[in-house]
Amino acid sequence: MKEIVVVGAGFGGLAAAVLLAHRGHTVTVIEKNEVPGGRARRWEVDGYRFDMGPSWYLMPEVFDRFFDLLGKKREDYLPLVRLNPYYRVFFAPDEFVDITPDLEKTKATFDSFEKGGGDALTRYLENARIKYETAVGEFLYRDYHSIFDFLNPTLMIKGARLSVFESLDRLVSRYFTDHRAKKILEYAMVFLGNSPHNAPALYAMMSHLDLNLGVFFPRNGMWGVVEALLRLCAEYGVMVRLDEEVRRIAVERKRAVAVETTRGSYRADAVLVNADYAHAETTLLNPAARSFDEPYWRKKLYAPSMFIMYLGVRKRLDRLRHHTLYFDREWERHFAQIFDAPAWPDTPSYYVSVTSKTQPDVAPEGSENVFVLVPVACNLDDSDAQRDRYADKMLTHLETLAGENIRDYIAVKRIYSGRDFAADYHARNGSALGLSHTFDQTAVFRPPRQSKRVRNLYYAGHYTHPGVGVPMVFIAAQLAASAIEAAR
Ligand SMILES: Cc1cc2nc3c(=O)[nH]c(=O)nc-3n(C[C@H](O)[C@H](O)[C@H](O)COP(=O)(O)OP(=O)(O)OC[C@H]3O[C@@H](n4cnc5c(N)ncnc54)[C@H](O)[C@@H]3O)c2cc1C
Repeated sequence: MKEIVVVGAGFGGLAAAVLLAHRGHTVTVIEKNEVPGGRARRWEVDGYRFDMGPSWYLMPEVFDRFFDLLGKKREDYLPLVRLNPYYRVFFAPDEFVDITPDLEKTKATFDSFEKGGGDALTRYLENARIKYETAVGEFLYRDYHSIFDFLNPTLMIKGARLSVFESLDRLVSRYFTDHRAKKILEYAMVFLGNSPHNAPALYAMMSHLDLNLGVFFPRNGMWGVVEALLRLCAEYGVMVRLDEEVRRIAVERKRAVAVETTRGSYRADAVLVNADYAHAETTLLNPAARSFDEPYWRKKLYAPSMFIMYLGVRKRLDRLRHHTLYFDREWERHFAQIFDAPAWPDTPSYYVSVTSKTQPDVAPEGSENVFVLVPVACNLDDSDAQRDRYADKMLTHLETLAGENIRDYIAVKRIYSGRDFAADYHARNGSALGLSHTFDQTAVFRPPRQSKRVRNLYYAGHYTHPGVGVPMVFIAAQLAASAIEAAR
C-alpha cells in the first residue's frame, strides 16, 4: 500500500484517485481552486447553475468501463438521458437543421444538402465506425513508451485504417461537397483544439460518436460527473483538499518524496500530476528533475483558448436547443484567425449550450442558463474593454439566432477567457484545452505518462495520451493508475 498524492482535482486526478484508492492505496488529492472538477467546475449564482467547461457527454462506454473496474453500475451514480434533438445547427439565422437520434432523418437532411448525400453519409459513418473501433480496441487504452512501441507491425497494419497521415478535411471532401455536410462532420475538431485541415482523418471517429452512438446528458450535467467522482472518493476514503495550491514537488535521489503546498507538506511514495503538464514541469520541479526544458514547451502547438459567456436570461428562448451550433459562411476565416493570423474572430462560428432545456431546475422558473463559447486564438488582447466589445458583438448575433431580444432580459452575466484559464488552471498561453491534436502531438508524441527523471512521478490529464476531452481523460486516469500499480 502506498501513499499517493495527486496534484489537481480535474477529471484526470479524481478518476485516478478513485481507482488507486479502490486498489488499496492511501490517496490525497490537492486542488488549488475552491471548487473541484477542474475545467468542468460548476458556477452557481442567483438560482442559475452553469457547467463552466465541458457540456457534451460523448463515448458513454468509456464511463461505463470506468465504473465496471470498480464493480459498480454507472447508472447508480450517473443517470443519463439521450438528448433529442442531439443538437441544432444554424448555417444562417434563418436556416437550421436538427440532428436527432433518427439516423434516417439525418440521411434525408444530407440528401437535401446534395444529391446522394444520404448514401455518402452511410459510407462515411461506416468508415468512422471502423476508425473508432480500431482506436478503442488498439490505441486509446494503451500507453506508448517508445517510437518502436508505436510503430510495431501489428499496430502499423491496424493503424492504416486510422488514416493518421491524411487530414480530416481531405477525407470529408472525398465524400461531400456541400459546405453544410462538411461542417457537421468537422465541427468537433474545434473541441479537440484543432482545425480540420490539420487534424488527422482518424478524428472522423468523432462523427461515429455523435451520429451513431448518440449524445447524452447526465443528471446535473457535467457537474453530475464530478459529483459521482466525489461520491466515489468518499466511499474509498480519498481525501480531497480544496483551495490549497501545490508549490513544489520535492525530489531526492530521483524520487518524489513530498508535495509542498500553500498549507503544508505531504509525504509521498508516488506523485500523480493532473495539473497542466507544462505548468508542473516548469514550475513545480527543480530544473534537474524536469523531463523537458523550456524550449520543448515553447515548440509545442497549443490548442485554442475560448471566449465564454455565462448568461442567466429571464425568459425562455424557443429557437435554441440544449446544444446549438452556429457555423458561419466564413468559417475558414475563423480557423485562419485562430491558427494562422491570430485575431479576435470577426465572423465567428460558435456553440451555445442551454441545459435548462433538459433540466429546468438549473435556472429559475421561466428562465434559461445560456452558455456561449467561441474558440479564439491564444494570447489575444484580453482586456476588459475588448471583452465587453466582443460580448456585445456576440449578443447581437445570438439575438439573430434566437429571433428575439436577449440583452434586456439578462439577470446574470460573466465572461471567461484566456486570462482566466491561465489564472485558474495555470494553463499555458491561456489555452482552454492544453496540447493540440496534430499528428506529431498524438500517442507516443504526447508527453509521457511517467517522468523521465523522477522514477515515481506520473502524469494524467489532457496533455497525456489519449488527449483532450472528458472520456479521453478518464482513459488517461486508468492508464496512470495502472502505471503506478505496475511499479509496486
Ligand atoms: C470550455 C470547455 C468546453 C469543453 N467541452 C468539452 C465537451 O463538451 N466534452 C468533452 O468531452 N470535453 C470538453 N472539453 C475538454 C475537457 O473539459 C477537458 O479535456 C478535461 O476536462 C480536462 O481534464 P483534466 O483533468 O486533464 O484537466 P483539468 O480539468 O484542468 O484539471 C487539472 C486541475 O489541476 C489543478 N491545478 C493546476 N495547478 C495546480 C497546482 N499547482 N496545485 C493544485 N492544483 C492545481 C487545476 O486547478 C485543475 O482543477 C472542454 C473544455 C473546455 C475548457
